[in-house]
Amino acid sequence: MESIKKNLEQIRERIERAALRAGRDPRSIRLVAVSKKIELPLIEEAISCGQTLFGENYMQEAREKISGLRSAASWHFIGHIQSKKARDAATLFDLVHTVDRLKLAQALDRHAGQAGRVLPVLVQVNVGGEAQKEGVAPAEAEGLLVAMGELANLRVRGLMTMPPFMDNPEEARPFFRTLRQLAEEFAARGCFDLRDGLELSMGMSNDFEVAIEEGATLVRVGTALFGPRL
Ligand SMILES: *Cc1c(COP(=O)(O)O)cnc(C)c1O
Repeated sequence: MESIKKNLEQIRERIERAALRAGRDPRSIRLVAVSKKIELPLIEEAISCGQTLFGENYMQEAREKISGLRSAASWHFIGHIQSKKARDAATLFDLVHTVDRLKLAQALDRHAGQAGRVLPVLVQVNVGGEAQKEGVAPAEAEGLLVAMGELANLRVRGLMTMPPFMDNPEEARPFFRTLRQLAEEFAARGCFDLRDGLELSMGMSNDFEVAIEEGATLVRVGTALFGPRL
């Protein structure tokens, strides 16, 4: 328990230092505490230390946690979404990071509309072009964004990526930079709702500082906060 408090303090310090190195306001970066496979008491401990934003990967697990803790926290979905789970994704979360195909976007739009809400989303881009990774190919991202512009119940706020795993976080830098450059191009062409700024979801335990130096506004950190997952 003590360690969550300490881990959080250290992560927040590292976020702040990385932001300052890059000449950015540390408040422009939000920490998404990735709580997949983490039990409620540890999440409650993080909440009591002031961490109120969590990211979940699995719909069933997320639904149970959210119904237990809804008022105390906000929740982002960061996992792969099967189309048949689109209703939960569209109704339970404050931001969905992982839209990567039009059919899914249309399903989210329909369910958000039925629930009477506008759902904030990001488009996941497979910057590394890995066959096993989710995400739209960079060359197809603009087409997807243009098509999503027709969907009145979605609010597209930016991009998300998961680069190939690298032992050395410096090797992830070019992927983060590419995502930022893509996002800036698309923003200039009017592909995003920029009322609250452009969101770039990139960086995990191993490489969030590099991601911040390259412009991340949302860093998704699990292991460095909660320890190894079982
Ligand atoms: C699990 C996961 C994370 C967190 O990874 P850590 O290495 O534990 O920080 C971040 N983003 C996504 C999409 C994940 O699935």
